[in-house]
Amino acid sequence: MKHIYMDNNATTAVRPEVLEAMLPFFREHFGNPSSVHWAGRAVAGAVEKAREQVAKLVNCSPAEIVFVSCGSEGDNTAILGTADALREKGNHIITTSVEHPAVLETCQFLEKRGYEVTYLPVDKNGMLDLAQLEAAITDKTILISVMWANNETGNLYPIPEIGAIARKYKVRLHTDAVQAVGKVPVDVQAAGVDLLVISGHKLGAPKGVGALYVRRGAKLTRFMHGGHQERNRRAGTHNVPAIVGLGLACELAGREMVEKAAYIKKLRDRLESGIRLAVPEIKLNGHPTERLPNTLNVSFAYIEGESLLLNLDMKGIAASSGSACTSGSLEPSHVLGAMCVEITLAHSSTRFSLGADNTREDVDYVLEVLPPIVQRLREMSPLYNCNQESCVDCTTLARL
Ligand code: PLP
Repeated sequence: MKHIYMDNNATTAVRPEVLEAMLPFFREHFGNPSSVHWAGRAVAGAVEKAREQVAKLVNCSPAEIVFVSCGSEGDNTAILGTADALREKGNHIITTSVEHPAVLETCQFLEKRGYEVTYLPVDKNGMLDLAQLEAAITDKTILISVMWANNETGNLYPIPEIGAIARKYKVRLHTDAVQAVGKVPVDVQAAGVDLLVISGHKLGAPKGVGALYVRRGAKLTRFMHGGHQERNRRAGTHNVPAIVGLGLACELAGREMVEKAAYIKKLRDRLESGIRLAVPEIKLNGHPTERLPNTLNVSFAYIEGESLLLNLDMKGIAASSGSACTSGSLEPSHVLGAMCVEITLAHSSTRFSLGADNTREDVDYVLEVLPPIVQRLREMSPLYNCNQESCVDCTTLARL
């Protein structure tokens, strides 16, 4: 059976060049980069080269990059570390209701410890009102945390404009750029960002590695205690092969991103217009244009996203309903909830996130198998055959 992978926002395959570059660091270059002898020195150089590669992609100094174990660790460190370091100054944090759980749950944790958090709402396209963000700032506000790109809808948030607001009020800005780095240009200087998070496995590096950009001078309490690695900012022996892989993946992304993004966007748009033509009563979730080039989140009225996923899987197609972290739970997505997507439509949402390995044939195969699956599932759905005037679900769907 054909295997078609359209779940790149959940994770990406490790790029073959990246794997090749990592292998010597499992074999002959096994040293600990903190060791002063030859074995350590050989490896320390590779970690510093990777730091330069990561820094170049987001336009910062290598000294401002801290290697971490994943995007979640980066987000936790940025938020908890800032909250603690600036506790004397204030206890108020502003974030959005559509963040990844790595941000939302960290903020909820802080709320239980006396911090105040404003969760900004979004409109029906999932976008923020920047006047509302500015109005939420008080003299106690120490941090604004807004993601660069949303993992479920692909929505892109105007980080440079938010950076200008943060600078105006001298408030720190953290951005979870896990879904953005490698897919769209990200420049921390131009965006006025103080803290930014990258995750290796979203851009062709392995799982278990990430990077946190900390603007020089931004105070941050350390989160991992122990050794003095990463200039005392993060304890723990470096995951050298993964760091080497992240460095190369960033270098390759910098070279190829523009061309690949244009290619992927063409495929994504072909998929989107093909679905629109072949399947009635669908709803695009997210902003029509301010979106990552690879992401398409669609609700197919009357059916369960999970049933659709299982049926697509039987045809070899990997997609996702909501985010990978929440799939397996029957809770509708908090992102779609914040966008006021009606609950049955939220349950029927499916995310296709394409990558550079996808081809036009892949898209055409999805367009061939998807419409009959949707039709079959609809015919089995009690909602599809209902149409009673008083039915809340039917009246909602009639508005599509
Ligand atoms: N932030 C966003 C927007 C994500 O999509 C993810 C992963 O899906 C994370 C953070 C967490 O990254 P990691 O899996 O590296 O912990």
